[in-house]
This record gives sequence, structure tokens and C-alpha cells, in this order.
Amino acid sequence: MSSTMFEKKLKNYIGGEWVEAATTQYADVPNPATEEVLSQVPLSSKEDVARAVAAAKAAFPAWSATPVIERARIMFNFQQLLFKHQDELAQIVTLENGKNVPEAAAELLRGIEMVEFAAGMPTLMMGDTVPNIARNIDSYTLKFPLGVVAGIVPFNFPVMVPMWMFPIAIAAGNCFVLKPSERTPLASARVAELLKEAGLPDGVFNIVNGAHDVVNGILEHPDIKAVSFVGSQPVAEYVYKTAAANGKRVQALAGAKNHHLVLADADLRRAAKTIVSAAFGCAGERCMAASAVVVDDSVADEFVQYLIEESDALKMGDGMIAGNDLGPVIRSEHLNKVHGYIDRGLEGGAQLVRDGRKDAEALPAGYFLGPTIFDKADAEMVIVRDEIFAPVLSVMRVSGFEEGLDVISKSRFGNGACVYTNSGRYGREFVQRVEAGMVGVNVGVPAPMGFFAFSGWKQSFYGDLHANGKDGVEFFTKKKTVTERWFDQGDQSIGSQKVFVK
Ligand code: NAD
Repeated sequence: MSSTMFEKKLKNYIGGEWVEAATTQYADVPNPATEEVLSQVPLSSKEDVARAVAAAKAAFPAWSATPVIERARIMFNFQQLLFKHQDELAQIVTLENGKNVPEAAAELLRGIEMVEFAAGMPTLMMGDTVPNIARNIDSYTLKFPLGVVAGIVPFNFPVMVPMWMFPIAIAAGNCFVLKPSERTPLASARVAELLKEAGLPDGVFNIVNGAHDVVNGILEHPDIKAVSFVGSQPVAEYVYKTAAANGKRVQALAGAKNHHLVLADADLRRAAKTIVSAAFGCAGERCMAASAVVVDDSVADEFVQYLIEESDALKMGDGMIAGNDLGPVIRSEHLNKVHGYIDRGLEGGAQLVRDGRKDAEALPAGYFLGPTIFDKADAEMVIVRDEIFAPVLSVMRVSGFEEGLDVISKSRFGNGACVYTNSGRYGREFVQRVEAGMVGVNVGVPAPMGFFAFSGWKQSFYGDLHANGKDGVEFFTKKKTVTERWFDQGDQSIGSQKVFVK
């Protein structure tokens, strides 16, 4: 696969057609490993959003009236096509995002799991029933799609995160408008083609490429009933407040700072290996990346040494080349910001025990940073407080479990948290008390499978119903509760006096 396979200028996908955006503004989409421009993405306008919403609205009556089993069958077809094209899709993700091909393939697989979950929609849409809630009166709930719904996604999982949204939404009978990240719009374009091939009617799935104008167009459009957002904390908060103020249902999954607690009785080598993979996999650009380690003082020297050794073993380079472990970060602007954090970590007094800036000097192009590790950081430092979203890990030393838990509770984020121990007692205590919504016990990236909710806490999530699992189905459906009775023809009784006996 090469860059020449992409359109020079991307279009929007509206009503089953590729449509030129109503804008003259375009942004480059470079390959972050080589800096070669792969394509250009339109920075579409609110007018483009309105066109997509109109197409989705027009498709809604027929799509929502299509039996759920038929909608589910399209998900089965789509799942088959995703497997058929998995190498191609993984390579597109690698080219536009920078993560290596096995990481991109793993991302796609997690997306496919969502499609498989959504294919179970006939069961997932079942309501509740209570017969005879009063004499001869039955009550039951029915679930209905909302109408036109939208998804706004980040750059770091270009195929998986949209699949947290649209498979459930459309299998439940909604019509969908996707705004991909303007930094990684290429995989979504291929996904749209595969959905069409799977038999999805035109207008049910639409793409509007762009940046904040498109987001604002979505947040303000009166015909969009619900918005699912995934991205950084400040934008998530803005989307949550603005969408809610405009009367929309909203779930906004936000940034993170995932703390990992290593207790003195842990298998230190295994914990170091797991944390290095969780911290530096996908160049640290995962909302579930390990980014702060809290380690018991009595084993800290030995543990930090293991972290360094495991990091030294990683090979950095273009993710398209087999054997490279660590790819680039997304843009040069982002890399500059990360360098700024490294400077601030040093100014704050943390010890830089592994400097990834040096690894990058050997590479001819690309936005690379090698594994970077700070030791002797503390919870007040900006490198611990902020999400850096890069291969930068900060280690804090504590005395025992309680102090470790206390340090973790200081974070304003609560996405993931992990503990490493051989003690069932402390493992359980951690699960019960830690202030985070997704917990790992001797597991480094406890991202739940698609049939569970992706359940961040604190400033890692804004809303009520989480993405994925049963929450995801609830989010994209509305309930009707029916109270029903029937009379014999000619029965003159009022109310429910007459008792029917077999
Ligand atoms: P981002 O917030 O910069 O962008 C996300 C989306 O919002 C993009 O589509 C972008 O175009 C749009 N956007 C950006 N700035 C905007 C603005 N000022 N006004 C309106 N819209 C705007 O996030 P990103 O850098 O693409 O992605 C990385 C972030 O996403 C990290 O913080 C990461 O933790 C988070 N993330 C969270 C989860 C989760 O499940 N909690 C999952 C993946 C990524």
C-alpha cells in the first residue's frame, strides 16, 4: 500500500455519494512516520453538516422501519468485509496514525467486536414486560431509535472509536453522521465504502470531514438527537455542555492519566514488562495508556531498573516496517508540546532516568520520541497532573498501599487504574476503593470488551450512559412504556372488574 492510493483531496460522504465540501479550506494529512503528505482533508462548514443531516433524516423513516433482524444482517455482512479487508484497513491506520501494523490490526479487531455486538441487536432491543399489573392490564416497554445521531472522534483509534458508535446506533435503527478526526480521516472513508458493499442503504451512514466548525454544526443542529464524543478533556467538557444546552442526549469520553500501583509483593519483572507495553504501545497515544506509576519504595530501585531495561529493548521506527515497536506521535506540534512537558518535568525536580529524545536523533524524518521515564516525580508536578499523550512515563515512590491509593485519588482523571500484586486481599481492596472506572489487576490495559461499558470516571467522562455494551444500546434508543387492556366485544363493564378465567 502506498500514499498514491488515497484521493488527493478527500470529500464528504453524504447520502451514499462522495460530495465535495462547501469550503476552500483544506488541511494536509501527513504520514507521521515519514512526513509525506498522504491526502488533504476538507475543513467543512456548517452547511456541509446540514446537507449530511438532511440526507440522514430522509433515510430514517425507511431505515427505522426495516426489521431489526435485517439491520443485524447488514452488520454480519459488514463484519465479513472487515475481516476480508483487515490487512488493508490496518495499513491505512498505520499510514495516517503512525502506530505499527500489528497495533492497527489489534485496533481493528476491537472494532469488529463492536460490530459483532451490534449484530445481536434483535436481543439487545428487547424490552421489559410485566403482565397483569392490574386486573387484565399488561405493561411493557418498547425501544425505538432516536433519529439522526452523530459521532465525533479523536485521532488515536481511527477505526475502533467510530465503531464504538455507529454499529450500535445504526443496528438500533438510527441514521448516523460521523465527524472523523481531521488528522486521521482516511480509514473512515474506506469504512463507508465497505458499509455500502455490506448493503447499508444510502443516507444511513454519512461522513462530514473537518474540525471545530463541523463539531459546532453538529452541536447546534436541531435535527441531531444525540452526540457521542471521544477526545480530550477540555473539548469533551465543551461538547457535553453545548450539546446538553441544545437539548441533545450526549456522552463525552475524555482524557486520562492512568495510574499503575506496583506493590512490594508484585512480580516486578512481569509488572515492568506489562507497564512498558501499556505506556509505550501506540506511542503512548491511548486513553488507557499507563502514564503514572506508583511504586512501593522498598522495591522502587529494582523496579525502575527493569522499566529502563524493558524500554531499551523497544525498536523505534516506521510502523509499516515489520519489527518496529514504537511509532511516531501524531504531529510535530504535538511533539513540541511533549518536549515542553519534558522540560517542565526537569524544572520541577523529577529525575529523567531515560531520555527518549536521544533515540529520535537517529531517525531521518517523522515525529518520534523514544521511551521517556521520569523517576521521583510527585502528584503535584505538571507531568503527573496533565495528560501528556506520548511515550512519557512518570514514577512516584510511596510507602505502602494506603499512600499509593491516596496518590492515585489526587488525579482529576479516573479512566483506568491498575494494581500489580500477588495478594488477593490488596487486589480486591484496590478494585473496591480506587477512584477509576476501569480497573486492571495484573493487567496493563484494562480496556473492556465491547459488550461491557467503557466506563471512565471523574474528568475522564461527561454524561450518564457510557459507550459500548448495554449502556451504548440505551444511549442510542428511547423507551416507550405501554399500559394496555382489551375488552370483550359487547362487554359493558368499566375498568378492570371482569376477571377472565380460562
Ligand atoms: P481532541 O479533543 O483534540 O479532538 C477530538 C475531536 O474533537 C476531533 O474530531 C477534533 O476535530 C474535535 N475538536 C478538537 N478541538 C476542538 C475544538 N476546540 N472545538 C470543537 N471541536 C474540537 O482529541 P485528540 O487529540 O484527537 O485525541 C486524543 C484525546 O482523546 C486524548 O485526550 C485521549 O485521552 C482522548 N481519548 C479518550 C478516550 C476515552 O475513551 N476516554 C478514547 C480515545 C481517546
